[in-house]
Amino acid sequence: MNEIETSVSAFADMDLSEQLLDALSDMGFSEPSPIQAEAIPVILSGKDVIGQAQTGTGKTAAFGVPMIELISMENKSVSGIVLCPTRELAIQVSNELKKIAKYKKGLHILPVYGGEPIERQIAALKRGVKIVVGTPGRVIDHLNRGTLRLDKVHMVVLDEADEMLNMGFRDDIEEILKSVPDERQTILFSATMPKPILELVHRYQRNPQMVKITKAELTNDAIEQSYFEVSESSKIRLITQLIRLNDLKLMLVFCNTKRKVEEVVEQLKLNGLKVDGIHGDLRQNQRNTVLSKLRNSEINILVATDVAARGIDVSNVDAVFNYDIPLDPEYYVHRIGRTGRAGKTGKAYSFVTGRNDRKLLMEIEKFSKTTIHPGTLPTKEEWLNLCKENLKQKIQVALQARRNELYSQVFQDFLSEGLSAEEVSTALLRLILKDELDFILTIKKAHREINDEYNTEHTEKTVRLFLNVGKKDKISPKDIVGTIIKNTKINFRQIGDIDVYDTFSFVEVPKKKSEEIMELFKTLKVKGRKVNAEIAKSR
Ligand code: ADP
Ligand code: MG
Repeated sequence: MNEIETSVSAFADMDLSEQLLDALSDMGFSEPSPIQAEAIPVILSGKDVIGQAQTGTGKTAAFGVPMIELISMENKSVSGIVLCPTRELAIQVSNELKKIAKYKKGLHILPVYGGEPIERQIAALKRGVKIVVGTPGRVIDHLNRGTLRLDKVHMVVLDEADEMLNMGFRDDIEEILKSVPDERQTILFSATMPKPILELVHRYQRNPQMVKITKAELTNDAIEQSYFEVSESSKIRLITQLIRLNDLKLMLVFCNTKRKVEEVVEQLKLNGLKVDGIHGDLRQNQRNTVLSKLRNSEINILVATDVAARGIDVSNVDAVFNYDIPLDPEYYVHRIGRTGRAGKTGKAYSFVTGRNDRKLLMEIEKFSKTTIHPGTLPTKEEWLNLCKENLKQKIQVALQARRNELYSQVFQDFLSEGLSAEEVSTALLRLILKDELDFILTIKKAHREINDEYNTEHTEKTVRLFLNVGKKDKISPKDIVGTIIKNTKINFRQIGDIDVYDTFSFVEVPKKKSEEIMELFKTLKVKGRKVNAEIAKSR
């Protein structure tokens, strides 16, 4: 079975040379990060590795340490190549590798990327380089000119593989991999594992071992994620009420289009909120103006599209609203990652309108390996209380207004017509508050309906998977369950009947998780056997 070896807790336990240990100590790395603890021993053992961990978890050293330790110094040819999506990353990774290789004599490392005169890189390559760190485009360029040869390479690293595919480097990567000998070790790191990545893994890696830090770390536990089933026209009202209800101070609201951003900004302003928005049509200086308003607390709500918000670093965000559900699950992860930072907790609210949104939400859950729970709406009484407080403030303001004589006269008229003061007020309060109560009851009803549907779809429906391995492959039910629960967030209670026959087996799993499990079996082996998993035709 292809499980993760027990990880070590110190660099000193890793079978590394003195030169490496000294360099790590100079760098101030006193102990390995979780991804390093898991990946370094496996890479040192010579296996192909798929590594998954978030940004900032130390992936560079996770591949850099074993790469530098294993690099062959026998000849002067390039022995290792690292591919990165951008020029900045190529430089950054190359600098980190140089530090790691500080005490390895003659182990030269060179970043190659577009935007730098190619002649300089050619000259450096001629002097002899052991590890090239490059962007795919520039590497191809060198290959075509014959200024870079990869025929002695024995280790390839694809860093930020998902990002490289997003940037359209797929063909370049495949071309580069084809010019590297088949006898090589291939390491792939990626923050996310969408299908195209798994395809790449499938084609270019051999019996890869999956190494990932626990999912609890992949998605942030400090973020409380919930969703509300609402109609489009109720969203503004729900935002304003959630702000009030949870006493939120700083918020980001995400929309899918520029037009929606403008609309939402206008609507929230009408509700007396301090808000502004950014989207792709704004010029850089307009964008900066909005952002500085946010920093100076002139506004406390920023409405944005995904692209416009990229790279914006705002601290202390209390809540992220997905006014529209993002079409790409990855956007969701980026959006909500703006809150729950630096030891603080945050909230992520998603507004779901209709079937399509529900499907998107399920995709997001699958992708981010979390369950997004229905949000808690206030009880009727809590809601009434909130509205009462709000109305009390409005009454104070209204009483200060000029020309109240007009209304006072109407009131006197009612009294003289035989109504009591209490009767008049009660009726007026009913007129005002009933509207608010109807609103919350409608939302609660929609919410209940969707929850019922959701629960049946999620927990009651299971499917049987057919696995093409059985007793003669020395597979036991424990191996099947073990593989699933070790590599997914599924717990053993969610796994139903398991039947192991001579040459095949069946396992009953939640329908919602079946795709994830089938994908999982594609990437690893059980008891040394490749497993094909598919939905069983019938029971
Ligand atoms: P990633 O590639 O996962 O985004 P990096 O490899 O860029 O992360 O590492 C992020 C930062 O953490 C870098 O500044 C790096 O020097 C530092 N770092 C990495 N590993 C360790 C460690 N074991 N101890 C201390 N700092 C580390
Ligand atoms: Mg990195």
